[in-house]
Amino acid sequence: MLEQPKIDALRQQQISARGHLIDGQSVASSSGKTHDVISPIDGSVLTTTAAGTADDTHRAIAVARAAFEDGRWRNQPPAARKRIMSRWADLIEAEALEIAVLGVRNNGTEIDMAIKAEAGSAAATLRYFAEAIDKIFGEIAPTAPEFLGLVHHEPVGVVAAIIPWNFPMMIGAWKLGPALAAGNSVVLKPSETASLSLLRMGELALEAGLPPGVLNIVTGAGSVVGEALSTSMDVDVMVFTGSGATGRRLLEASARSNMKRCYLELGGKSANVVFADTKDLDEAAKVSAAGIFRNSGQVCVAGSRLLVERSIHDEFVAALAKKAASMKVGDPLDITTKSGAVNNASQLQQNLEFVATAQSEGGKLYQGGKQLLKETGGYYMEPTIITDVAENHTVAQQEVFGPVLAVTAFDDEAEAISLANSTVYGLAGGVWTADLSRAHRMVRAMRTGVVHVNTYGGPDVTVPLGGVGQSGNGHDKSLHAFDKYMDLKTAWIKL
Ligand code: NAD
Repeated sequence: MLEQPKIDALRQQQISARGHLIDGQSVASSSGKTHDVISPIDGSVLTTTAAGTADDTHRAIAVARAAFEDGRWRNQPPAARKRIMSRWADLIEAEALEIAVLGVRNNGTEIDMAIKAEAGSAAATLRYFAEAIDKIFGEIAPTAPEFLGLVHHEPVGVVAAIIPWNFPMMIGAWKLGPALAAGNSVVLKPSETASLSLLRMGELALEAGLPPGVLNIVTGAGSVVGEALSTSMDVDVMVFTGSGATGRRLLEASARSNMKRCYLELGGKSANVVFADTKDLDEAAKVSAAGIFRNSGQVCVAGSRLLVERSIHDEFVAALAKKAASMKVGDPLDITTKSGAVNNASQLQQNLEFVATAQSEGGKLYQGGKQLLKETGGYYMEPTIITDVAENHTVAQQEVFGPVLAVTAFDDEAEAISLANSTVYGLAGGVWTADLSRAHRMVRAMRTGVVHVNTYGGPDVTVPLGGVGQSGNGHDKSLHAFDKYMDLKTAWIKL
């Protein structure tokens, strides 16, 4: 149960200047420079983080490499590694409110979501992968009797993880859980605008007993720290969540350097398809509104395109608009807020520009569209609905990553499928229908990594998340996530 007075006390706490976390120590940037951490709640400067340099990054990679080579982590008995990672999850859970408030002050996600989706989900994810450590076996191949073919699963070495601003703890844990459980060392780079909760998570890992040097965190600009990681000759695997533009640069950097494997979780333009036979249209409207407007639309799988059967279009859009209007937008540390702050000023500007472009291309502004609460100094935007969106409109093709819903009517299932698959993305989607066969046909027909049926959002760590097309490659979550962090080695033995 969230208690407002506790949150109000925590939000007043001073946050000391933060260094990188390298070799178990907090260290300043080699340049001596720092980066102001702006709170999207009111535009104030919360604290500073180290402005990482290429030298800092190379030092962290070297430390991670040394930790991997000397086996201080990977050679510990599985039960010992499992104990440490489970203790880490316990420590995060014990501090869930403190760390969630810290994260919200930094990135603007509403606290009722952050407590579950950040602290809660990070702890659950780490525990899931900790539990798996002593349950992953190698293989014995079915060879001719005079041979023995053994398949070993080995950690890849040094993993670089680059994380975005939305849900940094959750997405961080999606990478750290399987990477560390597999025995690797990691250098993690948080987003410039969401570093604080990840730095705290790193400290808690040390407290739990993770040996120094196994997890290193370097803060700073993508163009400096991210670039140094992606062009490094000594990083074995790069895992990334963020925009397509950055993903493309990482692939180029890999090709220019050591051809490190690069796994990308990118953006989406996910279609939420509502058929007229949906049993509970009111529930569909409520969940669909939450599916685009929670966290101000800064959700990779957000249902940002609503495809709705023409016969219920007007009724359904009106119902959804009503639900959206009832979602409180504002201070993310108010426990009644349902849509917090946009993470930064330039993202807010970009959201507003998308609305203007949508209108200039023929979309109709049905509701919202404006900046809110300017007087706070923070970055807030109305939940925005644009109807009459055609397939080729910018707002139907490009990810906004903001609280903007594009609505298009369709006449039959074939048209719904064609519209749903009409972007370069393929991250997520949704189908609302009472017809079981249609639900299964739609799941098969939609080219995405996940399809929600009669719900939207919320799959847990047991199932994979990954995109197709320009939404990326590889999967976070579930045991399949280990594939990114383990190599197969064959031992071929003549008996
Ligand atoms: P972004 O690509 O701008 O930044 C992501 C990270 O990459 C940050 O840490 C940033 O510093 C770093 N970076 C930037 N330039 C870099 C460079 N040249 N080299 C290396 N690193 C660099 O993305 P963002 O704006 O922080 O996050 C929003 C995006 O993330 C959206 O597109 C969203 O859909 C996507 N996202 C995807 C998922 C998923 O699971 N598929 C989840 C959450 C967010």
